[in-house]
Amino acid sequence: MNKKNILIVEDDEFNKIVLQDMINIISQDLNIKPQTFVATNFWEAKNLLSKYFFDLALIDINLPGKNGVEVLKLIKSKKDIPCIAVTAYAISGDREKLLLLGFDDYISKPIEMGILKKILEKYLKSQR
Ligand SMILES: [Mg+2]
Repeated sequence: MNKKNILIVEDDEFNKIVLQDMINIISQDLNIKPQTFVATNFWEAKNLLSKYFFDLALIDINLPGKNGVEVLKLIKSKKDIPCIAVTAYAISGDREKLLLLGFDDYISKPIEMGILKKILEKYLKSQR
């Protein structure tokens, strides 16, 4: 089994649980053993990043205090971990904006299992 550490930065309790459940289900298919760590704001994310190595980060854009873009900047200033924006903004054009800011990819809420699977496959299956 391929052990992978995934950082989830999400302030909504329900979304947090849904995302973790989906990751666990998909991981069985992909033969990945995920360890998910959840931060509910910038500072919790910063704390986790100082303690663990992550293979992937899923970052909600709308966070209390500092937003998801601040979390992205913090991560990318230290290490090139793939960062996926998770946001309710489903307006076309936002994807490009997020990619320009430095996100590697984008998932809109409500998250579709098939789309999340493609993301996990793309960023976790290849040996980095
Ligand atoms: Mg939020």
